[in-house]
Amino acid sequence: MGNKPALSAQELEDLLNLEDFSPVYRRANQVRQEAVGDTVHLRALLEFSNVCRRNCAYCGLRAARTQVERYRMTPEEIVDTALAAHRAGYRTLVMQSGEDPWYTPELLGQIVREIKEKTDLAITLSCGEMPREDYAHLRACGADRYLLKHETADPALYAALHPDGTLEARLRCLRDLKELGYETGGGFMVGLPGQTVKTLAQDLLTLAAIPCDMAGMGPFLPHPDTPLRDAAPGSTERTKRCVALARLLLPKANLPATTALGVRSAGEKSDVFSCGANVVMLKVTPTRYKRKYEIYPAPLADTHIVEQRRTLEEQVRALGRVPC
Ligand code: SAM
Ligand code: SF4
Repeated sequence: MGNKPALSAQELEDLLNLEDFSPVYRRANQVRQEAVGDTVHLRALLEFSNVCRRNCAYCGLRAARTQVERYRMTPEEIVDTALAAHRAGYRTLVMQSGEDPWYTPELLGQIVREIKEKTDLAITLSCGEMPREDYAHLRACGADRYLLKHETADPALYAALHPDGTLEARLRCLRDLKELGYETGGGFMVGLPGQTVKTLAQDLLTLAAIPCDMAGMGPFLPHPDTPLRDAAPGSTERTKRCVALARLLLPKANLPATTALGVRSAGEKSDVFSCGANVVMLKVTPTRYKRKYEIYPAPLADTHIVEQRRTLEEQVRALGRVPC
């Protein structure tokens, strides 16, 4: 567990409730600049399988959804896409999927090994919960980082949203990942029904307690074919406040301007860069699969990955930041 956090639960709540948050944004931006500089890291996101055995109440990939056409990319397709992302200029590949046991730790490990042999890509896995020995195997095969959001720090809310898991099990995974030497990424959704400002303060303290090297915070967006279809979407302003406070708690962390935040309204991504974020992920998932990886409804760009990256690099430079 980390040192005493820079802000208490009460201070975090008070800050989240501020009428005028602009001084905190300015401070978070300053801390970001001093701690991690002006670089914005562009990460390639490859969604290699939309098959999932879990039934998280909010997610469009949940097992109970029968409307989804499921896909699994072959190991060859995954490696080829990784090579294409590398050629397009990416230095990190995020391999994400539902919890899909078809990809055994051995198979996933072979894929990671092959990509590491053929490129100098850093590999981030985001494939859900696994036993510690599987995380250890994947680390030994070359996986550098792992993303596993804790989703919500309220145990009762966690239980209500996750019929297949507990908050304790999720946190156990995060602690295992950290101990195994992964750069460890946590995070949570903002605006889940039943969440309070108290919960958000605990969410932020959970990131600090691991302590996370990366943290993704995104607004909850209701998917029409899930039990949470009628819930209101999370607020982008509140999400940005959480990003800023995460920067104050974890000055050196990599904090993505999450995809969900970009979806809510155009221009939000540039905003989020000025309040503490220093990472952005771009989908390199082949077009034929991209539409089927629908966590929440979102417009999708069909631009080629080279052009897509170039456009984003320009946008980042226009903000006075350095794409990498
Ligand atoms: N299966 C892995 C897992 O759960 O960690 C990785 C894939 S999962 C689709 C990635 C993230 O999507 C989750 O951690 C969750 O925070 C986010 N997500 C799922 N449904 C969402 C929704 N309706 N709104 C916002 N984020 C959502
Ligand atoms: Fe599966 Fe992850 Fe979606 Fe939960 S959030 S249903 S584990 S893909």
